[in-house]
Amino acid sequence: MKASEATQLYFENAADKVDLDDRMRKLLLAAKREVQVQVAVELDNGEIETLVGYRVQHDNSRGPMKGGLRFHPDVDLDEVRSLAALMTWKCAVVNLPYGGAKGGICVDPKKLSHKELERVTRKFVDQIHDIFGPHTDIPAPDMGTNHEIMSWIRNQWEKYHGFNPACVTGKPAEHYGAEGREEATGRGVGILAFKLLGRLGRKPKDTRVAIQGFGNVGMHAAKFLHEADFKVVAISDVSGAYYRPEGIDVAKALHYSLNHGRSLTGFEEAERISNTELIGLNVEMLIPAALGGVITMDNVNQIRANIILEGANGPIHPDADRILNERGVTILPDIVANAGGVTVSYFEWVQNLQHYKWGLNRVRQELDHVLTQAFDQVWQEANDRQVSLRTAAYVIAIRRVHRATVLAGI
Ligand code: NAD
Repeated sequence: MKASEATQLYFENAADKVDLDDRMRKLLLAAKREVQVQVAVELDNGEIETLVGYRVQHDNSRGPMKGGLRFHPDVDLDEVRSLAALMTWKCAVVNLPYGGAKGGICVDPKKLSHKELERVTRKFVDQIHDIFGPHTDIPAPDMGTNHEIMSWIRNQWEKYHGFNPACVTGKPAEHYGAEGREEATGRGVGILAFKLLGRLGRKPKDTRVAIQGFGNVGMHAAKFLHEADFKVVAISDVSGAYYRPEGIDVAKALHYSLNHGRSLTGFEEAERISNTELIGLNVEMLIPAALGGVITMDNVNQIRANIILEGANGPIHPDADRILNERGVTILPDIVANAGGVTVSYFEWVQNLQHYKWGLNRVRQELDHVLTQAFDQVWQEANDRQVSLRTAAYVIAIRRVHRATVLAGI
């Protein structure tokens, strides 16, 4: 199943619950604009490389569109389309005044020199600068892009349109970025894990957690959960998984990873197991925070956790999702669980528009407030309708986007 088909399936399940008619489904599902451009750049050795870049703008009924830019060899139109729609539902369920977009370039950034990466980024902006900006569509970092790339994007966009740092988010904190943006998604996963546990009447200290992925999301989620008294027993990255039934010393693991090029290779404070084994560990909570599509029909029966928070986008295949629901596993879906990042991106945009910078404490408080409100609404909707948290989240999102579309006039 393609990524876009999975998003569409979840949309349709929720649309059935709110009796959305076929014409409205068609309208809400289709992207407003899909742009594909050729990015031709000169490499350091003088050769010309021709890359393909995309920007898909899915919906703008609730505000300017928002979504990351991904530099990765697997980037294609279908994936970008699916992620753009996911952003629409994510912004709507968290009630940010945004629609959804996504973009990217099919390229392996690790194979480019620093200068080549900058040239590729600036060339891409040259191609799409007239379709994004502070009041139309605001890009942000995603896989393979970072705050430095966002700075280049801002600089290149401003050459055409003049000073306006709100044209892109995820910029360095000392250069119009928000304090706390880097930790935001992982911290959000932690905040929501805490809220979810409260609703389920369980205690952090009795909750063993396994986290797949120790990058931006996994690392900050692990830190927050450890500090909130959860027992983080397993962490992992592309080098493998690390398991300690008594609990991992997360501070040591963080220190180790940051001092070894963001890798846990050689971490000896825990038993080394495989990423496949991590998925099936005897834990109460599982947090996939690395890649999409890691829980499938092939491994769903190995899962013993009865709570899953989707730190990554789309980590559970829809068939596996159905089986887990039938088994009574509580799943907090990606559009809620990892919305902390776009929420703090929104705070960055607000600060840029107001030319007023918030401190870290304010960012954290506002993040807690936005995510708690969204979580409470999703929980309530799920209980009222007796549906999964995923369907409830989509129901709320679809209702908001539908209402905004109708109010604006079609
Ligand atoms: P990242 O690149 O910082 O980290 C990814 C981590 O996954 C790394 O530790 C890497 O080693 C690990 N990994 C890669 N392949 C793996 C494999 N086969 N098995 C196990 N681990 C593997 O990325 P990130 O920003 O932490 O994003 C992780 C996921 O969260 C992605 O799906 C991303 O789309 C999603 N997400 C991120 C943000 C954000 O703000 N960073 C926001 C929303 C969603």
